[in-house]
Amino acid sequence: MAKRAGQGSYVFFTETMAEQERHRLTLTNQLRNALRLNELSLHYQPQYRVDNGSLYGVEALLRWQRADGTMVSPAEFIPIAEETSLILEIGYWVMKTACAQYSFWLNQGLCIPHLSVNVSARQFHTQGFVQQVEYILRDTGVPPSRLLLEVTESVVLENRRDSIARMRQLKALGILISIDDFGTGYSSLAYLRDLPADEVKLDRSFIQTLVNSEQDRAIVKAILDLAQVFRFTVTAEGVEETAQLEVLKILGCQHYQGFLTSRPLTVNGLEQLLCPTEAD
Ligand code: C2E
Ligand code: MG
Ligand code: MG
Ligand code: MG
Repeated sequence: MAKRAGQGSYVFFTETMAEQERHRLTLTNQLRNALRLNELSLHYQPQYRVDNGSLYGVEALLRWQRADGTMVSPAEFIPIAEETSLILEIGYWVMKTACAQYSFWLNQGLCIPHLSVNVSARQFHTQGFVQQVEYILRDTGVPPSRLLLEVTESVVLENRRDSIARMRQLKALGILISIDDFGTGYSSLAYLRDLPADEVKLDRSFIQTLVNSEQDRAIVKAILDLAQVFRFTVTAEGVEETAQLEVLKILGCQHYQGFLTSRPLTVNGLEQLLCPTEAD
């Protein structure tokens, strides 16, 4: 199959490229109907304090199970949703659903100090986003100081001035801002100083090598030291081993999440974890 690329030149697609493109189109079309068909849901991964192991919060993570039962990873479908305006609809649904669920848990007396919600680049920069968050907070009754919005470091780097302005608007609502996947964006650490954020999330890639690589340990230590100066809290993601947690404790990291303690859980799963007697 060949496609004209202009100026008489041709780009040749291999079979696999054509297949990939077909796969992407199929996913896009299926994703268009996923919300209406109730195929999207949220899982919640607990986050803990490193010093005493108590619950710090939960991160809402999107799940898509298609009608045939197969799961599609958010790492695959979020970028597809980002290419269309679908991400706006999905992002709004995520925020509304997570806040409503969290409000329900608070009313039930469950002690979950914070709720973290991931926000995509396009959603974050869309006009009216701040008003949407304000409306959802009012509608669900979630106290703003309990909500953390996670924006990836790359989003902030690409569009630094606008991002800082947007963060300030969000912070004026009283909510907290988190920089997700921190350390992967090749940014100068000093740029942290200018960010009106409250938390950075250390990317899993650093945690994986924390125990064996002295260099990575030094990077993590530098981030933690700087975070302390600039008054950010730090959450480590992807903690899978006790040894990693031990190093994080020595280095003074405040919070962590990971398979070591819990995978992302369904609503029922989280309720059973937090109040097992009630659920039995
Ligand atoms: P993220 O926000 O950095 O989320 C952390 C990811 O690491 C999640 O993958 C989580 O399941 C996984 N994880 C947590 N602990 C461990 C561990 O110990 N080991 C390993 N190997 N993985 C761990 P997930 O749920 O597949 O989500 C992938 C990414 O998709 C997220 O990365 C986030 O960027 C995006 N995403 C998920 N839900 C949403 C959403 O509602 N909105 C937006 N915009 N993006 C979302
Ligand atoms: Mg996240
Ligand atoms: Mg992350
Ligand atoms: Mg990540």
